Amino acid sequence: MMSDPSRCSGIPHCSLCGEPAVFRRRQTGTHLCGTHLASDIEAQVAETIASHRQVVPGDRIAVALSGGKDSTALLILLHRLFYSRDDVHLVAVTVDEGISGYREATIRSAGDLARKLGVEQITVSFPELFGRTLDTILTGRGAQACSICGILRKKALVIAAERAGATKLATGHNLDDEAQSVLMNVLRGDLVRLVRDSGADSGGKFIPRIKPLMYISEKEIAAFLMVQGIWEDLPECPYAVHALRREVRSMLAATEYRHPGTMRRLMENKKKVESAFHTRAAGPAIGSCRECGDPCSGELCQYCRLRHALGL
Ligand SMILES: [Zn+2]
Ligand SMILES: [Zn+2]
Repeated sequence: MMSDPSRCSGIPHCSLCGEPAVFRRRQTGTHLCGTHLASDIEAQVAETIASHRQVVPGDRIAVALSGGKDSTALLILLHRLFYSRDDVHLVAVTVDEGISGYREATIRSAGDLARKLGVEQITVSFPELFGRTLDTILTGRGAQACSICGILRKKALVIAAERAGATKLATGHNLDDEAQSVLMNVLRGDLVRLVRDSGADSGGKFIPRIKPLMYISEKEIAAFLMVQGIWEDLPECPYAVHALRREVRSMLAATEYRHPGTMRRLMENKKKVESAFHTRAAGPAIGSCRECGDPCSGELCQYCRLRHALGL
């Protein structure tokens, strides 16, 4: 009689090959060994890239590499998918914000990874671009840390991607991040921002941003990295304590645990809002920033407004 290999003994075994399992998908009850988890994640990422047409021949992809878990997994996966192709080129782009006691280690591991994979790397820093470190900028403004840093980092990544001559900018946002963003926009009463966040309405003015890990959960990424032999526990940003995101994150993780599939269903909402906007062409009109020319919906872009507020 055939038996389910995952039920042979007390220790869970891979549902596909019977080797010891390292991961269990709660939604399906499937157990996966390291090899099958890695190939499964690789296939999911390839599927996301293909179905959203994220990469086309001739692309030069700037891969945002902070050195944290998500971006490390992203570069490893994109490198695996594209290293044998000569019509797609990868460049790692790293932003050193200047967060003392936190960024040094991750910046170093970003450089190590790029070198190990043989991927060219471009690094830009806040002092170089904005004249000050993030620590200095945030003095007395801790409560706004994540929104200030988010705007400046986005700008820095775009500048780095332009310097790299890139046609796309890939970021390591995962399923948890994306589901959190959907919920946060709902909690703030700002559904329109969902569409704006996707960059889908930039009318070709932005360098297109792609998120190949948008359907891969934080847990899958952590397990994937362990399978790659990366055990290092990369520290969390010291400023993140102030963020609404942190609350949403733990709430959503608890809900996902009790109701597997919650995060994916939140993502479905985003898709529906997006397609409603596209069919009705009701998105906010996109013009150009009076000062820097970047695409934006008002007179000044978020970055230039912030630049004035901070006196940068
Ligand atoms: Zn297996
Ligand atoms: Zn501007």
